[in-house]
Amino acid sequence: MINFDYTKPSTIQNAIGVLNKDAGAQFIAGGSNLVDLMKRGVMTPQKVVDITGLPLKAIELRENTIQIGALALNSDVAENDLIKKHLPLLSQAFKAGASAQIRNMATVGGNMLQRTRCGYFYDTALPCNKREPGSGCGALQGYNRMHAIFGTSDKCIAVHPSDMCIALAALNATVLVTGPKGSRRILFTDFHRLPGTTPQLDNNLQRGELITGVELPLNAALAQHSLYTKIRDRVSYAFALVSVAVALDMKGKTIQSARIAMGGVAHKPWRLTAAEDFLKGKEATLNNFQQAASLAMKDAKGYGYNNFKLTLAPNTIVQTLKTLAQIS
Ligand SMILES: Cc1cc2nc3c(=O)[nH]c(=O)nc-3n(C[C@H](O)[C@H](O)[C@H](O)COP(=O)(O)OP(=O)(O)OC[C@H]3O[C@@H](n4cnc5c(N)ncnc54)[C@H](O)[C@@H]3O)c2cc1C
Ligand code: SF4
Repeated sequence: MINFDYTKPSTIQNAIGVLNKDAGAQFIAGGSNLVDLMKRGVMTPQKVVDITGLPLKAIELRENTIQIGALALNSDVAENDLIKKHLPLLSQAFKAGASAQIRNMATVGGNMLQRTRCGYFYDTALPCNKREPGSGCGALQGYNRMHAIFGTSDKCIAVHPSDMCIALAALNATVLVTGPKGSRRILFTDFHRLPGTTPQLDNNLQRGELITGVELPLNAALAQHSLYTKIRDRVSYAFALVSVAVALDMKGKTIQSARIAMGGVAHKPWRLTAAEDFLKGKEATLNNFQQAASLAMKDAKGYGYNNFKLTLAPNTIVQTLKTLAQIS
């Protein structure tokens, strides 16, 4: 690991100010991703700005929304009574992520900005356009078992690794951000990016912007029928091969509206709008669920080692919908 300076501001304005002044500075929260990347030489900030002293840990009910501070720990959000009651999907997604020890360190903002787990990205001896633009993509022709089947480009086929973010996408969250030019709100589905020709950019944050929190609208009907399914190589401590977050508004057996997002399949949390539109007003039947899954898979493309996801993904969508609707 290279030498670096360390500073721990106690106000948001100071934290933003330090980052704005120093091009080599980087925020650090729980450090569970950034420190790993620094040890491997993948990220080399000259100054780390420790934001854990900022007052951004609260989880609060405000009118028809819940606001979660960017520094709330993954374990605290998962076990919070407001979250379990109003946003059970989010609690489930957190509990499916990482291990108990890591969840005790990891923050909401850091989880959103964690980098891909593509092995070529982590190995500085191998080509990777995300780590070093223009160097090539090792995964395209290489070992790509964990990689994307949607929204890829010829520059990068990495997936976004977070579980939390898949639930946030399905729950229509908004990211709260403050930077040198003031505060702004970003719809969660617009927050992360597809790789295109600039895979080095994971999201639409501007330089110097700090995530201060995330806001989630309350929806009692969706909260009653929601489920996160994560398929992984072992029960604990593994990133998703495929994951599905579903929330249904049901009247009897009829689906009034559906929200579905997938993880492990794209460079960003992947919202299945075609399947959602199809299910609106339909009965909860196996046939309708299978048709929705086929629509969702229309543009999917495998790269060899990850071809199994072309079957695993629709099966996981159907299984999650069946479990939620309690049909066999
Ligand atoms: C062994 C292992 C297994 C894991 N398994 C899973 C898993 O199954 N599912 C899953 O979802 N995750 C998993 N993770 C990832 C873990 O959830 C992330 O490392 C963690 O959420 C990152 O949070 P952090 O606070 O530690 O971020 P940090 O490492 O401190 O920061 C990560 C990035 O976010 C930036 N940052 C942090 N906070 C802010 C902010 N408020 N505003 C702007 N920038 C910010 C930092 O500059 C840095 O670039 C795993 C991690 C490990 C080590
Ligand atoms: S898939 Fe993306 S992150 Fe992985 S090697 Fe290719 S460019 Fe790098």
